[in-house]
Amino acid sequence: MQCTRCRIGHYHATTIPYITFLNDQMLVLPNISAFRCDMCGDVHFNQAFLEQLQYLLDQLTQAEGPMEPAEWLALNDHATNWQSSGRMV
Ligand SMILES: [Zn+2]
Repeated sequence: MQCTRCRIGHYHATTIPYITFLNDQMLVLPNISAFRCDMCGDVHFNQAFLEQLQYLLDQLTQAEGPMEPAEWLALNDHATNWQSSGRMV
């Protein structure tokens, strides 16, 4: 497939890291199949794969959601209680 950017090179199948963000946390997928131009280095990702990935990330963020501060404190408090009672036994 001829490069759509420089119109000289051709795309070759390769694997490159894909970086995205999930709730302000960096998510790196180290080996994503993509096509890279052998002349200018232009990269084309597999669009179908990216759509599947975005769907999965949406599912994850909808299921979990950002943790409320009160919820975090409750969990933290529970962990402290568990540790202290563990030492007593
Ligand atoms: Zn090119």
